[in-house]
Amino acid sequence: MKEFLQLMKRFMPPYKWKIIMNLVYNILGALFGAFSFAMLIPALRILFQTEDIVVEKTDFVFTIDSVTHFFNYYISLFIVEYGAHRALIVIGIFLVIATLLKVGFTYLASFVLIALRNGVVYDIRSLIYKKIIGLPLGYFSEERKGDIMARITSDVQEVENSIANSLDMMIKNPILIAVYLAVMIYMSWSLTLFVFVMLPVTGIIIGRIGRSLKRVSTRGQNKLGEILSIIEEDLSGLRIIKSFNAEEKAKARFQKENNNYRLIMNRLMWRRNLAHPASEFLGTIVIVIILWYGGSIILTGEGSSLSAAEFIGYLVFFYGIINPAKAFSTALYSIEKGLASMHRIDYVLNAEITIKDKADAKNIDSFKESISYKNVTFAYGSNEVLSNVSLIVKKGKTIALVGSSGSGKTTMVDLLPRFWDISQGTIEVDGTDIRDLKIKSLRNLIGNVNQEPILFNDTIYNNIAFGVEDAKQEEVEKAAKIANAHEFILASENGYDTKIGDRGDKLSGGQKQRLSIARAILRNPPILILDEATSALDTESEKLVQEALENLMKNRTSLVIAHRLSTIKNADLICVLDEGKIVEQGTHDELMALDGRYKRLHGMQMF
Ligand code: ADP
Repeated sequence: MKEFLQLMKRFMPPYKWKIIMNLVYNILGALFGAFSFAMLIPALRILFQTEDIVVEKTDFVFTIDSVTHFFNYYISLFIVEYGAHRALIVIGIFLVIATLLKVGFTYLASFVLIALRNGVVYDIRSLIYKKIIGLPLGYFSEERKGDIMARITSDVQEVENSIANSLDMMIKNPILIAVYLAVMIYMSWSLTLFVFVMLPVTGIIIGRIGRSLKRVSTRGQNKLGEILSIIEEDLSGLRIIKSFNAEEKAKARFQKENNNYRLIMNRLMWRRNLAHPASEFLGTIVIVIILWYGGSIILTGEGSSLSAAEFIGYLVFFYGIINPAKAFSTALYSIEKGLASMHRIDYVLNAEITIKDKADAKNIDSFKESISYKNVTFAYGSNEVLSNVSLIVKKGKTIALVGSSGSGKTTMVDLLPRFWDISQGTIEVDGTDIRDLKIKSLRNLIGNVNQEPILFNDTIYNNIAFGVEDAKQEEVEKAAKIANAHEFILASENGYDTKIGDRGDKLSGGQKQRLSIARAILRNPPILILDEATSALDTESEKLVQEALENLMKNRTSLVIAHRLSTIKNADLICVLDEGKIVEQGTHDELMALDGRYKRLHGMQMF
């Protein structure tokens, strides 16, 4: 309950007025509800023919006694004048009007709450997406993508279903219960005492079940995260699964987790569904006690505090409480379940953004001289990948990084846009530590062309214009022309408006490359990070891509991760990396003359 209130405090402020309106409508609804129930008592009196005719008219004051008296007086008048039959009809009309007002206000209450409910879910989903986009890359190599997706989808859904859904119940029912109880206490406080005695007992039992529900629910949501991770992985690896005939294996892995999930959910729902029978059973026990006690008051006739008609009215009020009480306890259960999901969401929301701007970070809007890596050491966790690396990249030069796979080339270039922060040493751009620069302005200077071109399921146009605001058609076309992409784009179905499918699946490898090159050309960054394609393209395609790359690199400072040594012969400087250290550097000719590691790598490739 405490946690629920904290949650309300966090997300409710923008919707303060909606809550106030909801309270007002609910109170009105409960009052008219009570009024409509109360109308039964005079009706019953007339039926039992125990209606005492009230003849004296007293001054009207705003107390319950006075109102009752006032009411009885007019009913008496009416009965005397028109007879009991018509009086019943009039009471009936009052009852219908009161009920109409009751349901009307109750509807209005839930009406204003719907905007709040969807608003909160919207807020949570936006918050979590914003957070995910802002988190450093490192976060995602620690966490499973599917699990994060589960948190943003099914956990938010769960919060919506259980917490937002219960909100209505959480406000409406206590008000109803309070108003009805007030009337009941007024009618017979001693009888109502019995109801109160039962409440703590019921509360303890229901609270027990609720707590265990939260535990199981957390397990269920975690499992769902694992399942989504498997689906995500299998969908992106479908090609491999099929070619290795691993469908059965994939199915078995999925079925195992799916089955675990099923078992957890069985346990969850068994427990959750206990709420109804438990509260119904407890409710019946209370009714039996009331019947016995109230009945004995009436039967013995001691103290004429309660007439039979009033007792029936009292029972009606009590019945009126049972349903809201049940719904309230169900809502409490639900909330426990939703809180488990909220914890999973908070886990992401509270993740620390480790790579962020310093308070006094400076803007950098041009690249003038050089990039220097000074004694850079970097580790993924405890796995040291770069040790004491130093390198100076002068403006306008092309630097190639070569070395066997796993030697740290990608890591080295990833450090420049601060995808990761280094552990020791510094990286400087024009003499300023990159950690003192605004990340956004730093990244603005750097263009990326990856081995695996990263494209989005959108039009060709939007994929090229991705990093640039308000790109003009001519500019996009010009970039495409320089990237040797214009022709194939025009030849495709809808030209620049052709949709390219998930990750550009409808394009060939070379076409994808050229699109990502066009994107970099359009953005026109002074510094370029190029992860050369390893996937063998056909000669024609390769020539086009190579040419496009050369166009892109013209007049820029480039850091190239080279996989095929033939393409970097002309680089200004070649660095050979081995196990996180630069072991050789120089031009192609110098390194060949050195007769060391580079020459061996070169020999292997030539062979
Ligand atoms: P290269 O680009 O030369 O193939 P990388 O820089 O990609 O080498 O990788 C260098 C080492 O760092 C490898 O041993 C690799 O396992 C490790 N590594 C790369 N990325 C991560 C990561 N996100 N988390 C942990 N270790 C990583």
